[in-house]
Parts: sequence; structure tokens; C-alpha cells
Amino acid sequence: MPEETIFSKIIRKEIPADIVYQDDLVTAFRDINPLTPTHILIIPNKIIPTAADVNEEDEAALGRMFTVARKIAEQEGLDKGYRLLVNCKEHGRQEVYHLHMHLFGGKQLGNMLPK
Ligand code: AMP
Repeated sequence: MPEETIFSKIIRKEIPADIVYQDDLVTAFRDINPLTPTHILIIPNKIIPTAADVNEEDEAALGRMFTVARKIAEQEGLDKGYRLLVNCKEHGRQEVYHLHMHLFGGKQLGNMLPK
């Protein structure tokens, strides 16, 4: 079994979080340190530590993450667009080792990486 992170406690509602969506496969909650007016994390309920650990059996949850991102973006009024981002391991600057998709929006974002 992969190790639990604080995100497992959020899924189980053992610690407070601003959960905006939850179903049998995924949970979405507001980032505690938002970098944009809308900054939401969408995570699989199953512990998948990183994007480098995904398997075919995870495809339902991974697909659901995109569907939920679209629904939340609509609820948040992000009709001008937004950014979905997954950091992976050390070089990707991943901090929490429970796979998560960032949904950033609510303002004009800059280039993804400095040129
Ligand atoms: P990453 O660098 O991609 O691993 O991003 C981890 C994100 O998790 C950061 O944006 C943190 O602000 C966020 N985060 C860490 N702990 C919590 C928490 N308890 N509730 C909400 N967001 C959190």
C-alpha cells in the first residue's frame, strides 16, 4: 500500500477542507494557499502517489478528474479559460505525494515556464 498523505485525511473528512465536489472516485477541494482567485485540487480517492504511478486500472478515476474539472470550472464561471496542471516528483516540484490536478483560474495566467 502506498503511504497516506494529508490528502487521505481530507478525503475521509478527518481534517477540515473546503470540499467543492466528492464522489466514489474523486474529491476536489480549495487549495489552502491559493495562487489564483480559483485554485482547486482534484484528486483520486485512491492513493496514487504520482503521475508516474498511474495504471490502466486508474483510467476511470483519471478520466473523472477531467470531467469534474470541467464542471467546477463552469461553476466557478471560468468561461475565459483556466489551467490544469499536474506536478510529478522532484523535478516537477511535487510536494504532496498523492496525485493531484491543480485547477487555476480567475485571472490571466502567465507563460507556463519562463522563456
Ligand atoms: P504540489 O506542489 O503540486 O504537490 O501541490 C501541493 C498543493 O497542496 C499546494 O498548492 C498546497 O498549497 C496544497 N495543500 C497542502 N496541504 C493542503 C491542505 N491541507 N488543504 C488544501 N491544500 C493543501
